[in-house]
Amino acid sequence: MAEFDLIALIHELGENDRSDVLLGIGDDAAVLRVAEGMDLVTCVDTLVAGVHFLPATTAWDLGWKSLAVNLSDLAAMGASPAWAQLALTLPTSDQAFVRDFIHGFLALAQREGVALVGGDTTRGELAFSVTAYGLVPSGQVLRRGGARPGDHILVCGALGEAAGGLAYLQAGGDGSGLHTRSSAPRRERLVQRLHRPEPMLAAGQLLRGRASACIDISDGLLSDLGHLCTASNVGAELRLDALPRSEDLCALFNAEEVVDLVLAGGDDYALCCTVPEALLVAVQDDLAGREIETHMIGRVVSERGVTILDRSGHTFTPRRRGYEHFSA
Ligand code: ADP
Ligand code: MG
Repeated sequence: MAEFDLIALIHELGENDRSDVLLGIGDDAAVLRVAEGMDLVTCVDTLVAGVHFLPATTAWDLGWKSLAVNLSDLAAMGASPAWAQLALTLPTSDQAFVRDFIHGFLALAQREGVALVGGDTTRGELAFSVTAYGLVPSGQVLRRGGARPGDHILVCGALGEAAGGLAYLQAGGDGSGLHTRSSAPRRERLVQRLHRPEPMLAAGQLLRGRASACIDISDGLLSDLGHLCTASNVGAELRLDALPRSEDLCALFNAEEVVDLVLAGGDDYALCCTVPEALLVAVQDDLAGREIETHMIGRVVSERGVTILDRSGHTFTPRRRGYEHFSA
């Protein structure tokens, strides 16, 4: 199948009815209209075979995830997603693969009202690069900087589950015992978290104008909270007891492993935000009203670095310390 036919296939599957798409797939570039009073928020993320996903991942899941990781970035900015572009690099022009990939991509895009407005199709090692565009009322975007000492640290979404799913898949069938512990539905839910992340869009929009800072957690809580603290020129004090430990994780991993996955496991795509004391109750009520899983895990402090305190107030040393920004 020629590049042209693949594009025609994508075009046909990706039909959309957003009135702000003046020109979509088919010309040299897309033309999009940004409504009066809105700011355009854009991000790009690339998934590369052998680096960002296991070889056995299905085309459908790859399509979903390549968009989901971008929508997570938009969620962290408080933006409503609008449009996306898809750069596909394929070793062969495999129509069945592209069809499944696009179906996964569009399942999420259509649910969230995102129009696929263009892209690029080239030959090479398997990789997917998605550029997403979102809209936010002028001046209301959420940023990493802005956290102040005393603010509460909230996480919206689950932590450690995707990394738990990955650990389970990687241990699969090796006789280590991991593959037999816990029930099949529990293990399947963890794997689902890895392959089909749910971007926290409703949470991000609800936090707009109220959270003092926000970031999405893609590299693990400690690492990404570290980035937020660096940008805000503050530190964080987490309570070990307050960290979420899901039943699905606890059924498969021991207590120490669970804490490690929650603190340093990647691919969560949860949101970590800071909320001033005065707004906390209102924000929590609204999140609860939308049935958004929320965990209060600690406070912002003026001393730099992220520390974790156990029940008796002693510093807990995590197994993995996270990346460079962690102990700034
Ligand atoms: P050009 O050679 O001018 O860059 P292309 O032949 O690459 O044009 O693309 C033709 C049209 O198809 C453009 O509108 C482009 O955005 C769209 N397109 C190409 N590849 C993809 C893709 N993978 N997904 C969505 N749209 C695509
Ligand atoms: Mg091109």
